[in-house]
Amino acid sequence: MSSDSPAAFRTHVTRGLRFRLTTSYVLFFTALLSFLGLFFVETLRSIYSDQVRDLLDEEWGAIKGYLRIEKGKPAWFYDREDPDEAFVVERLRRVYFLADAEGRVLEVSNTYREFGIDPPDAVRAALRSPQPAWRVRRNEQGIAYIIRSGVLVDGRHRMYMAIGRSLAEGSRLVDRFAWTYFLVLPLMILSGWLIGWLMAGRALRPLEELARTAQRITGSNLAVQIPTRGAGDELDRLIEAFNRMTERLDSSFRQTRQFSTDVSHELRTPLTAIRGQLEVALFAATSTEQYREAIVNALQDVERLSQIVRALLLLAQSESGQLALQKQVLEISALAREVADQLQIPAEAAGVRLSVSAAPACLLEADRVQMERLLSNLLANAVKYTPAGGSVSVAVRCRRDEVRIVVDDTGVGIAADHLPHIFDRFYRIPSTEKDPERGLGLGLSFVAWIVRAHGGSIDVQSKPGEGTRFTVRLPAGNVREPAPMPALEPQRKS
Ligand code: ADP
Repeated sequence: MSSDSPAAFRTHVTRGLRFRLTTSYVLFFTALLSFLGLFFVETLRSIYSDQVRDLLDEEWGAIKGYLRIEKGKPAWFYDREDPDEAFVVERLRRVYFLADAEGRVLEVSNTYREFGIDPPDAVRAALRSPQPAWRVRRNEQGIAYIIRSGVLVDGRHRMYMAIGRSLAEGSRLVDRFAWTYFLVLPLMILSGWLIGWLMAGRALRPLEELARTAQRITGSNLAVQIPTRGAGDELDRLIEAFNRMTERLDSSFRQTRQFSTDVSHELRTPLTAIRGQLEVALFAATSTEQYREAIVNALQDVERLSQIVRALLLLAQSESGQLALQKQVLEISALAREVADQLQIPAEAAGVRLSVSAAPACLLEADRVQMERLLSNLLANAVKYTPAGGSVSVAVRCRRDEVRIVVDDTGVGIAADHLPHIFDRFYRIPSTEKDPERGLGLGLSFVAWIVRAHGGSIDVQSKPGEGTRFTVRLPAGNVREPAPMPALEPQRKS
């Protein structure tokens, strides 16, 4: 786009579109109306010429009633005392030419003479054809006449006759129509252009509003909504799409802001603690034992800091799409058993019974590292949030096109108002008890990302005080043979 400022861009789009719409619509109608005008003019001309031909056919018949050939000469038989009949015969002979079989002129009217007499050759040729011939001839003033010529038989006499009628009257009518039409046409086009311009302006007004609103949008002012007009048309759909887009942007900006706040908070807590430990070491410690304790505490907090940074890095990579999945065919039941084995010791220490029920030879096309992370996050959470005496179980079920992993616990459960948020980043359910193993609130957001990246789904059911069930469904994929499974390295929950 060449225009730099949004105002110039808006002017460019609306004016340009408005002008192009109106102009193309007007050009189309100009072509259509001109074509229609020409079509009507030609149709009128042809109707009029057909009428004249019919009239000439009738006159030809009438002439045969009045004309006789006596001793090789034409003789007209009618009541000369009757003015009406005399007038009719006069009319019939107005454009009239009669020649004998040799092409010698017998009678010719003055009007016909103006076209020029038909030469004897043409007459003889015409007499050989049984069909009448039609021609258009013009007199000296350029007025067109239709001429009907052919054979006139009277007894044993064969003669050549041509009669004609002027097309002037009809032409005048058609010309008048054409002039009027093509004079009014520019007016029609102009008014069409004006109406089109106004209508296009009206139709495109919501776009201008959209452009103005888009201009008002900033990172901190995203919750702007344009009211739709209720017409349900393309522009309303565009406005709705725009409103939905700003909603999505608003929620994503809010998440980003929240995320920055959460990250700063997460980083500040161990940093403050480290600073405290170091100050104690510097100003208050007197014995080696006290120095040692301060350093050990500081190291624990440094470890927590690097844990946070690692998790953040992983999160950033997963969300920016840099963490590409390395898919392979896995024996998911075996992986579930291995992850559960790793958690047996902490589970026993917490007094929680951990069991696995996995269908043998259950194959899945997935990223091994991410699947391991998924299982260990879900199982570690289940163990962590289940009090002593409780139990945790993981079940792997294989269907034809889907693998289902169900992690059940008899732990503290999750209240209904927290359930929709547990997959959000840094979301931790506040607990009244002091929690030494405080998580980062990132584990389940990873789980959700891994499931999404594998094209699966996850849902959670929970009853506070009774327990929680996470169900993961993964498409089995194009499974062939399982890849050899390397031994698992002990892995922390991230
Ligand atoms: P954290 O690192 O804090 O465990 P997660 O994202 O893994 O973060 O979990 C988010 C929150 O969901 C936790 O703070 C916890 O309160 C709750 N939660 C997760 N799993 C369970 C579970 N099996 N039982 C009860 N609460 C759970």
